[in-house]
Amino acid sequence: MERTLIRELREKVGETVSISGWVDVRRDQGKMVFFDFRDRSGLVQGVVLPSSPAMEAAKDIRNEYVVRVEGVVNKRPEKNAQADRQNGDIELEVKAIEILNPSDAMPFDISGDTAGIDEGVRAKYRYLDLRSKRMQKNIKTRSEFIQHCREYLFKHDFTEIETPLLTESTPEGSRDFVVPSRLNPGKFYALPQSPQQYKQLLMTAGFERYFQIARCIRDEDLRADRGFEHSQIDVEMSFVEMEDVMATIEEMITTAVEAMGHTIKQKPFPRISYKDAMEKYGSDKFDMRTEEDKEKGILAYAWVVNFPFFEKTDGGGWTFTHNPFSMPIPEHIDWLMRGENIGDILTTQYDLVCNGYESGGGSIRAHKPEILEATYKVMGFTGEDLEEKIGHMLQAFKYGTPPHGGIGLGIERNVMNLTDETMLREVQAFPMTRGGQTAVMNAPKSLTDKQLKELGLKIDKK
Ligand code: ASP
Repeated sequence: MERTLIRELREKVGETVSISGWVDVRRDQGKMVFFDFRDRSGLVQGVVLPSSPAMEAAKDIRNEYVVRVEGVVNKRPEKNAQADRQNGDIELEVKAIEILNPSDAMPFDISGDTAGIDEGVRAKYRYLDLRSKRMQKNIKTRSEFIQHCREYLFKHDFTEIETPLLTESTPEGSRDFVVPSRLNPGKFYALPQSPQQYKQLLMTAGFERYFQIARCIRDEDLRADRGFEHSQIDVEMSFVEMEDVMATIEEMITTAVEAMGHTIKQKPFPRISYKDAMEKYGSDKFDMRTEEDKEKGILAYAWVVNFPFFEKTDGGGWTFTHNPFSMPIPEHIDWLMRGENIGDILTTQYDLVCNGYESGGGSIRAHKPEILEATYKVMGFTGEDLEEKIGHMLQAFKYGTPPHGGIGLGIERNVMNLTDETMLREVQAFPMTRGGQTAVMNAPKSLTDKQLKELGLKIDKK
């Protein structure tokens, strides 16, 4: 018999059906055995009557067994109906149960919220943790959010393009994860902190509108809203100014979150300068919600603009605040070119904040080689150092690179706001622990002597 999904059972009252899924709960009442069966679409109660040929199997079955069940969909008597539950007014009268795979007892309770369970245990059994209702919802919400954004971008003529994972380090302000090269012993690739340079080169290549669901890998201190790996909706557009990118992203986000049933506090999103944000909120990642907004799950987006381009390094030099590839605001290009008033130069950076998180950031880029060169000069790069750092970008920009700009939106931080989570790892399927251990699998770990030899590496045992 063909499989019926549990959510479709209500259309099949009186019919004999076959469902497949897990035993969510089993309640043995002696003469009768009750089950809640679960599949990806929901829950339904099953009842095994004393006369049912399935009674023997029902006695052996435990929670989380995988089963195929045949039965008749019945309306529940009025007095037993549970209006507040999915399928609360129907039940499956079980005629046959086939055990597709038994299950050991769960190492922890997955019937409720698993947030309080030991992190190491959750990580080890992440595939079970993910069965819990909250985690199913979080991961599905993430997928739905990405789906809406993707649809919007496709509708607006964007091309989805993947960029390399084995690459050269790009300066995003964090440490790189590096990968040794077997073919070039002693040399290393870096995993991308973001596709920044490749997406800009795609503008040189004439794609005009690029996006990617990009994995970004940064060796950062692990925090609640930060991990080694995150994903971003990475966008770049040609022939645009700040407002064009901001308007596109604003419309994309609005379309996505409203389709998902959320309410936005203020539209269009308010725009506030970095200076005003620091004066008013003491932070550029501020939360504009009232207590009442918080209770209602309202999303308060705002754009922060007019950031300083540079800040002083400990050594007394200058470094970029956000992104070295940005263009200063038009009024300050002259200062940059002449190397004047460095601390006062504002950049075209725009950050999207929502409910106290930085949920994205981007800028208009320096698309002329002399402007990018001037930025690097401020940061102390000239001659060979400059060539080594960004020679390839300066070269590419000589071949008709259009004006362009873009943004990266942190998927986790956006989904955290949609799910009311405060930890990055609650919206990732297989996150690392706070100590940097992978979920389920055992990394980082040592290499064999053979592997080390092939890579030309020696470990300096500390
Ligand atoms: N590369 C930037 C980041 O990862 C985003 C951008 O400017 O497009 O934060």
